[in-house]
Amino acid sequence: MFRITADHPQAKLVAGGTDWAVEVNQRFARASVQVGLDQIPELRSLVWHSRYLEIGAGLTLSELEAALGSSIPLLQEWFPRFASRLIRNRATLGGNLGTASPIGDSPPVLLALRAELVLAHEAGERVVPLAEFFTGYRQTQLQPGEIIRAIRIPLPLAPTAHFYKVCKRPMDDISTVAAGFALELEGRIVRSICIGLGGVAPTPVRAYHTEAALLGKPWDERTVQAAAETIRAEFTPIDDHRGSAAYRKAMLGRLLEKFFYHTSEVVA
Ligand SMILES: Cc1cc2nc3c(=O)[nH]c(=O)nc-3n(C[C@H](O)[C@H](O)[C@H](O)COP(=O)(O)OP(=O)(O)OC[C@H]3O[C@@H](n4cnc5c(N)ncnc54)[C@H](O)[C@@H]3O)c2cc1C
Repeated sequence: MFRITADHPQAKLVAGGTDWAVEVNQRFARASVQVGLDQIPELRSLVWHSRYLEIGAGLTLSELEAALGSSIPLLQEWFPRFASRLIRNRATLGGNLGTASPIGDSPPVLLALRAELVLAHEAGERVVPLAEFFTGYRQTQLQPGEIIRAIRIPLPLAPTAHFYKVCKRPMDDISTVAAGFALELEGRIVRSICIGLGGVAPTPVRAYHTEAALLGKPWDERTVQAAAETIRAEFTPIDDHRGSAAYRKAMLGRLLEKFFYHTSEVVA
């Protein structure tokens, strides 16, 4: 594969083709050379290591959903919210991250899981935190000739995590705002929290200020109300046909509150 991409630097990588086919059909994109990734074994493995799970970037979401079962509860909750079964039968994580869309649904959950990406090049591999992968609107750290080979999810997982997707239709719709939350408490105190967001900035983002505001605080209504103010102020989303900036900001606060209420049995 690397030989083909070296000989044809403009070659288009195609995994499931669910984004690329829309570019072809609706925006009349064309590529003189397309490289299919769907049969490359190195992109299709799923390996549990002691300190991380490594997911091949070319596995389809349906394959992953079946293979993982309930072992990553946040992903188990997330799969059904992603498009339809037809799309999940083709779509891959590599393709979702490769488009670098600010409203792609995998970054919020993978950011909450503190994922890292294994980027492969003819010359070797490097590992980058997903939080540093997106460099601007639809821009990534990928260098010419480099692909996403795998996604690593560090273990152990935070004990409590949820995903929320705000969209116009409950199923098979693109996110207006999406959020992944992963929380670890020590007693009632926030020991760690990781918040991944989509739809509120030119790239998917971590809510670092809000996370810092919650660390070490009691996980109670008062703390969360204050943090809801922080998360609303942390981002300056845009107005578009999916939702106004004010709506998106309001949703940020609401989703944090929703996560708190969904975790109330943990602290009861
Ligand atoms: C009807 C419909 C519903 C959808 N619903 C959702 C939804 O709910 N949520 C959502 O987030 N998306 C949704 N999408 C968008 C799309 O399905 C996803 O982005 C999907 O994950 C893309 O994966 P793919 O393998 O099909 O990517 P492809 O179309 O094959 O590729 C997409 C891009 O990523 C690049 N790429 C692919 N693999 C790699 C790799 N390993 N390394 C580097 N670059 C790579 C390609 O070159 C291309 O630029 C929807 C699309 C459709 C048509």
